[in-house]
Amino acid sequence: MSPLNLPQNPFAISATFLPATSLPATSQTQTAELNPVTWWFVCQGSNLLVLPTEKKQAAAKATESWVVPQAVNAEALGLKPLRSQFLGHLSGQPCVAVEVAAESGLPAGMDFQYLRSLHGQLREDLFAIAARAVQIIEWDRTHQFCGHCATPTMQLPTERAKRCPNCNFRQYPQLSPAVIMLIYKGDELLLARAPRFRAGMYSVLAGFVEPGESLEETVAREVREEVGVEIKNIRYFGSQPWPFPKSLMIGFIAEYASGVITPDPVEIEEASWFQKDSLPPVPGELSIARKLIDWFVTHG
Ligand SMILES: [Zn+2]
Repeated sequence: MSPLNLPQNPFAISATFLPATSLPATSQTQTAELNPVTWWFVCQGSNLLVLPTEKKQAAAKATESWVVPQAVNAEALGLKPLRSQFLGHLSGQPCVAVEVAAESGLPAGMDFQYLRSLHGQLREDLFAIAARAVQIIEWDRTHQFCGHCATPTMQLPTERAKRCPNCNFRQYPQLSPAVIMLIYKGDELLLARAPRFRAGMYSVLAGFVEPGESLEETVAREVREEVGVEIKNIRYFGSQPWPFPKSLMIGFIAEYASGVITPDPVEIEEASWFQKDSLPPVPGELSIARKLIDWFVTHG
């Protein structure tokens, strides 16, 4: 059975990956270390340790210039992990995420690369697992203490959660859901520029879900706040994990209803209607923003 996903969702977990959530990190790592072929997803923030693909490995795609290291244990790579989390098995091979200190030296021939820049340069299944790895390690790193009473937390043996031994408060990996929406009017679509975008680039609107909102309410509110336009016929498009650092993007398509574009002076530098055959530079193919735009150009 193939998973339901956007076409070419770059974060789609391969059917050969069996995720694990239920064993304590320490014993999982020990179990993994018994296997001579463990994949090590070594993280420093949003950077991943990779090594150049050897020519003799004959990568399936010419652009796959990096690979994730494999070893019997972390020591064999010359690493001293600060923390580790077992991720699951890829084709029966254990996958472990670890964090190493920023000051620790690099294993020979390896380098840290920004995860996002590895899209297309790393085997697809490894890229998708790496996206999980950096988020789970970040959660582990930032939940060492209880958010309620500041007691050091303990990893639960039965699920990916940390429990406070003092007040029993449990902390799970958290996501920040965000909606992203393409607004259209006939053959035109609404694109906007945020001040942080690279020069000349426009994209569809997006925004984080507030507590108490439905996704559809967020879509309508964000469009109203960012460009002063009312919309109708909000329809679900698809979703995509966005591990920069921990979002889930939920995509929608909606039709213009009324109003004149009035950009929010802080969040939006410029917004306009664009004919679908005359678009400005738009985001790269990694993003669901691009999937929405491509869909409208082809099917809208
Ligand atoms: Zn507590």
